[in-house]
Order: sequence, then structure tokens, then C-alpha cells
Amino acid sequence: MTYQSVNPNDGKPLKSFEHLTAAQLEHSLTAAQDCYQTWKHRSYAERAVILNKAAALLHAHVDDFARLETLEMGKRIAEARGEVNLSGDILGYYAEHAESFLAPAQLHPRTGEAHMESSPMGVLFCVEPWNFPYYQLARVAGPQLMAGNVLVVKHAGCVPQCAIAFEKLLLDAGAPVGAYTNLLISYEQSDRVIDDPRVKGVALTGSVDAGRSVAARTGQNLKKSTMELGGSDAFIVLDDADLDQVIPWAVWGRMYNAGQTCCAAKRFIVLDAVADKFLARFKAALEALKPGDPMDEMTTLGPLSTEAALVQLLAQVDVAVKAGAKLLLGGKRVDRPGWFMQPTILTDIAPGNPAFRDEFFGPVVSFFRVKSEDEAIALANDSDFGLAGSVWTKDEARGLRVASRVDTGMMFVNNIDWTDAGLPFGGIKHSGYGRELGRMGIQEFVNKKLVRSGRMAAPV
Ligand code: NAP
Repeated sequence: MTYQSVNPNDGKPLKSFEHLTAAQLEHSLTAAQDCYQTWKHRSYAERAVILNKAAALLHAHVDDFARLETLEMGKRIAEARGEVNLSGDILGYYAEHAESFLAPAQLHPRTGEAHMESSPMGVLFCVEPWNFPYYQLARVAGPQLMAGNVLVVKHAGCVPQCAIAFEKLLLDAGAPVGAYTNLLISYEQSDRVIDDPRVKGVALTGSVDAGRSVAARTGQNLKKSTMELGGSDAFIVLDDADLDQVIPWAVWGRMYNAGQTCCAAKRFIVLDAVADKFLARFKAALEALKPGDPMDEMTTLGPLSTEAALVQLLAQVDVAVKAGAKLLLGGKRVDRPGWFMQPTILTDIAPGNPAFRDEFFGPVVSFFRVKSEDEAIALANDSDFGLAGSVWTKDEARGLRVASRVDTGMMFVNNIDWTDAGLPFGGIKHSGYGRELGRMGIQEFVNKKLVRSGRMAAPV
């Protein structure tokens, strides 16, 4: 296996990269460890200059970064621009807030003085997915570099050019060699990095299988990890929902990034009273999407990231239908070059059907009709995942009550405005553990040290 950059719009290979040799990997780890010895002593203000510069470069060259991403993983160009700008915002956010987030916290023991202080842990290893080639990197680089840690990063096999571009961005912004290092490595090499005593923590975003493997290895080494894994989020439409508001969000929530988003709306759970109208309008809106070159601003349906992803998704739909689900729309590859899949709607998915529990990472809607609010909540909670979810109603107080009863890491009422530099992101159950972004994201890989002072007599 090598790192392969292939254009999902037409299947044409762009570039490929070999894995690092053992000597190159050792060189990278040594550089990271050496860099940490000085980086950890730099002031927040000094680190912020570099992070702010990187943010400014992303904003200034948004089109270049976006085009590379669209070329390499097929994200529609307007979405890619949005991702680049958001990545810049995240770097800037931590440049501004890291010092206050990590300031010593005064405690109040019965005698003497005490406080908690935060110090960096060292070299962190990050394993990241292709679906947000820059944003995922910014989510770890912003907080962790500002906290005084340094990063070695294994990005996904299909986005090596974006991975290299992000490393160059930080170097161009003035980061010292070793502060952020892209590693083109195999799984076996990844295991060796996890085992390396210089590496102090591991952050992974990806599938449940990758999470199990990397978390287990990290656990064997008694190192801290965070896991941002898959999801099968419920989109709960209550009987009083305003469909004029809901339908565009349903389309965006399922189809943004060609459906390849961890916290995409995947299970549409709709109360009987509005189910027929919802389904008819949702189907019509999905049918209207036009596949095309994701570089073209007019395209409304982009390709999937790789042929393997497309083949797997088509197979999942076949299994679902063989197990009794009804195919209301799509289900096939689009008849054109590239890795395009028709928008697809599955209904009548019984609890024994694999589709009832599995994540569909692409433009596939799972539709469920329920009789009551309680049934909607029970169905939303009947999932191995617990990443996010949303509820739609004209009665916001009712929406908030429903949101409180759904077992996930994030819930949205009358929107699915998923992410913001200042808001914690993460899930429970098989969606993983730990949080990225916001005040919480920067606390994951720092030593929280208690310091208690005051001259006291020893107990007798
Ligand atoms: P994936 O196959 O798990 O890949 C993610 C990353 O993990 C890639 O860099 C991959 O490398 C690496 N990887 C996989 N197995 C590994 C192993 N045993 N050892 C070391 N590295 C390993 O995930 P994907 O299918 O491409 O991405 C989609 C998944 O990510 C979905 O389930 C999605 O929901 C989830 N996701 C979650 C979040 C979140 O914040 N919760 C955000 C985005 C995506 P290679 O590419 O080289 O295989």
C-alpha cells in the first residue's frame, strides 16, 4: 500500500508516494522530540504568532487549498472553500484563547494554598481521515501546538497532497521543524509510533475499526487517547415541524460532502402526521441534485472519495435490500466516469437488517416512520453510535426536551450547524470518547498538575 492521490471526478491517478523508510521515520520522531524541548518553553504569544500566520495564509490562499482538496477527494469547490476558511478560524481561535484556557486554576483546600497547572505532554501522534483533509488537521494542530505539544500525523492514504500542503503551511508560517510533521506511514509503522516512548498520546478520527485497533495499542502502552469515530445520527422530525425549513436542512444534512460526514443526518425518524409529506418533498429534492465535476460551481452532487468507498456503499445498499428494506430512490452508481453514487432512500428497515445499525458513509437516507415522540427518541437511542443528532419542531422548548433525552455527544434543535471553533465536538458509545475544539479540546493532552503549598506540621 502506498499513498495514492486519484481524482474522484474521473478516476485518473494524480500522484503516489512511498511510505517512509525506517530511517526516515526515526529521523522524524527525533526531530519532533528535539523540537518539543524548545517549543514547550515558548510563550503563548510566540506560538500564537505562528498559528495566526498559518490562519492568515489559509484565508489568503483559500482557492489554492480548496482546489487541491477538490482535486484529491472530490469535495465540491464551495464546500472546500468553506472548510479552508473554517480551518483558519480554528487556528486563530486557539492562538487567541489558549493562554486563558490553560491558565492555572486556584483551588481552595482547608489548609494552605493549591492550584492546578497545565503543562504539555510531548510528542502526540494523530491519525486523521480524508473527509475533511484540512479541518481535521486544524482541530488537532490548533489546540495542541498552542498547548506546547508537538505533532506527528498520519493522514489518510487518499489525501497525501493535502497532508503535505498542511505541513508546508505550518513551516511557511514559521513553525520550527518537528513542531508538525506529516508521516506517510503504513499501519505497521503506525503501531511502532504508538509504542515509541517519545510519543505521549494518540488522537484518532476515523472508523470504528481503526479506533478499536489504535485505541487498543495505545491502551497497551498506557497512553492517553481520544477517539472521534463514526456516527449514525438521527434527524427527528416532530409532528409540528415546519417542512419549509426542514427539507433544505435534510438535504444539506445528508448530502453535504456527498454524505461523507461523521455527524451527517443518516437516520430520518419522522412522526406519522408529517411522514408522507416529508418523504415526498425530500425525495423530490434529492432527485433534483445534479452530478458533475466538483470543481464546477453549478454541480450539486459530487463524487465519493474513492472507488473502494463507492463499491462498499453500493454493497451495503444491496445487503439492506436483500434483508427486506425497500429502495425508494437511487441505489446505483451514476452512469458517468468517477466515483458517483445516486442519492438513495431506503425505507422499511427492520431491526434485524444490517442497515438498521450500520453507518452509511455516503448519500444514503435511512427513513423511519414512527407514531410518537417517545417512539422517535427510543429509535434514535437504539444505536451503537452516539455522535450527534437533531430535532425539528416549531416548539423550541419541546425540541430542547427531546434533545436532552437523546444519548449522543451533540444535539441540535432546528439546525444542524455542526461545528464552530468554540464548541466541543465528539461522541459517546461507538462514536468514541474525548472532545476536540472549544475549551475542552485543548485540555485533552495536557498534564493537569496539582500544586499545593504552605508550611504545615507533619501529622503525628
Ligand atoms: P478509516 O478507514 O478509519 O481511516 C481514518 C484514518 O485511520 C486514516 O488515516 C487511515 O489510514 C487510518 N487507519 C485506519 N486503520 C488504521 C490502523 N489499523 N492503524 C493505523 N491507522 C489506521 O476511516 P474512513 O472510513 O476513511 O473515514 C470515515 C470514518 O471516519 C467514518 O466512520 C466517519 O464517521 C469517521 N469520522 C469521524 C469524525 C469525528 O469527528 N467523529 C470525523 C470525520 C470522520 P489509511 O487511509 O491509510 O487507511
